[in-house]
Amino acid sequence: MTARLVQSLEIAPDTRHFVFEIQERDDFDYQPGQFVSLLHEIDGKSITRAYSLAGLPDGNRVELCLNLVDDGKLSPHLFAMQPGDSIDLKGPYGTFVFREPRPTVMVATGTGVAPFRGMLSRRLPQDETHPYTLIFGVREEAKLLYRNDFERLARTHPNFRFLPTLTRPSESWTGRTGRVQSHLFELLGDRREVDVYICGLKAMVDDVRAKLKELGFERKQIIFEKYD
Ligand SMILES: Cc1cc2nc3c(=O)[nH]c(=O)nc-3n(C[C@H](O)[C@H](O)[C@H](O)COP(=O)(O)OP(=O)(O)OC[C@H]3O[C@@H](n4cnc5c(N)ncnc54)[C@H](O)[C@@H]3O)c2cc1C
Repeated sequence: MTARLVQSLEIAPDTRHFVFEIQERDDFDYQPGQFVSLLHEIDGKSITRAYSLAGLPDGNRVELCLNLVDDGKLSPHLFAMQPGDSIDLKGPYGTFVFREPRPTVMVATGTGVAPFRGMLSRRLPQDETHPYTLIFGVREEAKLLYRNDFERLARTHPNFRFLPTLTRPSESWTGRTGRVQSHLFELLGDRREVDVYICGLKAMVDDVRAKLKELGFERKQIIFEKYD
């Protein structure tokens, strides 16, 4: 399929929210949490990269959230695209989607928060009973992607808590600090009847998974997506 760029908006330093329209389709359906692949030829080689769908199905539109990897191959090309430019797209793919409603904790770092935006927007209006908590870690406050969206969801759904944490807080920050891991294990305490969804770079995802296993969590309770 061909995806035409409608908008690319800087939402944090080196991070953009992209809106594409799929040319061949009136509708592009997917489950929130899934991803698409973007393909482009660079130096004679076809490069394919995966990107989580950051919104909800909306006609032929898809929303993505991207970090610029300075020495990366595809992300600099995507950051240079102008509205009206096109790129090849395939998908949707992936099984990082909400299972049956259960008490749920989500852990994300950086752009790993992208799939949770659509997942929570779909799930919270459907499930007002189980508790949902999103622990979101970034370096500095300016990198709290979609903060307004998650804060709005927390205001309108009392069973959802949004817990941002910064590893390099400024003096004015009065919220949580440090890595997502410490907040996750404090929050879980002795509770084991919880599904944990993890999304971000491999180092964080593997660390959280290993510790959850040590704590006795079953494999099916740990659902994850690794970006590298
Ligand atoms: C299922 C899946 C979903 C993904 N969803 C997203 C997404 O929603 N948003 C997104 O920005 N990326 C996402 N990625 C990562 C993305 O596919 C690319 O790896 C990333 O854009 C870098 O590609 P590149 O060609 O520019 O860099 P490459 O030349 O491939 O360089 C790879 C380097 O980039 C680092 N890297 C990869 N992803 C990120 C990132 N998000 N932030 C910082 N460093 C990174 C890797 O650790 C590695 O060192 C996802 C990956 C997978 C497998």
